[in-house]
Amino acid sequence: MGPGTDHLRRLPKVELHCHIEGAARPDLVQRVAARHAVDLEGLFDDAGRYRWHDFSSFIRAYDRAAGVFRTEEDFRDLAFDHFAGIAAEGAVYGEIFVSPDHAAASGLSWRAYADGLAAGIRDASAATGIEGRMIAIGVRHHGPESVLAAARLVASQPHALVTGFGLAGDERSHHPRDFAPAFRIAEEAGLGLTVHAGELDGPESVRAALDHLPVSRIGHGVRAIEDPDLVHRIAAEGIVLELCPLSNIALGLYPDVARHPARSLMATGVRITVSSDDPPYFGSSIGTEYAALARDQDFSDSELVALGRTALEAAFVDAPTRERIAASLRDW
Ligand SMILES: [Zn+2]
Repeated sequence: MGPGTDHLRRLPKVELHCHIEGAARPDLVQRVAARHAVDLEGLFDDAGRYRWHDFSSFIRAYDRAAGVFRTEEDFRDLAFDHFAGIAAEGAVYGEIFVSPDHAAASGLSWRAYADGLAAGIRDASAATGIEGRMIAIGVRHHGPESVLAAARLVASQPHALVTGFGLAGDERSHHPRDFAPAFRIAEEAGLGLTVHAGELDGPESVRAALDHLPVSRIGHGVRAIEDPDLVHRIAAEGIVLELCPLSNIALGLYPDVARHPARSLMATGVRITVSSDDPPYFGSSIGTEYAALARDQDFSDSELVALGRTALEAAFVDAPTRERIAASLRDW
């Protein structure tokens, strides 16, 4: 590792968009699978990476790897591994998407699942100083009733580290208005709100989300760049985009980092952040996202730190914690 790399590694980072089951590293999945004698035949390639080639095989591999996590301790280990890992790359704060549907699929109660993940976050915090929060997500292609049930569950069982609610899954299924009742419940529960849009679907999906859901952030939203009026609206309303450049490239939205619209969006006044989405699947990590923007889009140190500052402003976290972390960004 050269001095330049080490310098970037120490630069303080803030991540807002990462699915915890999608952050499970192959070696951890193998270790946890051994606890439960789960067969992983065919899940990894010869180099030990997840084997997938398109969106549906990605989802199949994802669900299979996620399926090895079954106990509170498994989820503690998953969160610890993730937060300790991103802290080693310079992250000072991270949010993860967590899923009541995954809790149910693993046979755990929502409470046990959230407690297990929270234990991992707290252990990583004790070891490294990183802070973390969780955003409960509904799965869009499971339908509005399922997402409404997720919102009711999360609102009725508040958890200190669950501070947000969002919508993920296939954004081409259902209209945002179908999910408005779920978001209303989450909003009344005091949760921060975000929705995936403008990734696999075009700018109209971002506009529809903003028209119908009371969100302050959009997951991805990158394809808003195709509609100048929409870009203007996003900037004017102060909506923050959770960009995940390496994920977009892995899924074929853009050929390479140089041609990703991160800098173009920033130049229009849109508030952008960068995150890793599902890191081991996309060959990404919070550190490599920052390094890619530095290398291929000439982001300066101060521009990279500004990404973290924007992310922190948009984070679903209490004011004292936000202020404490902001001080570490200012001091850098
Ligand atoms: Zn995502």
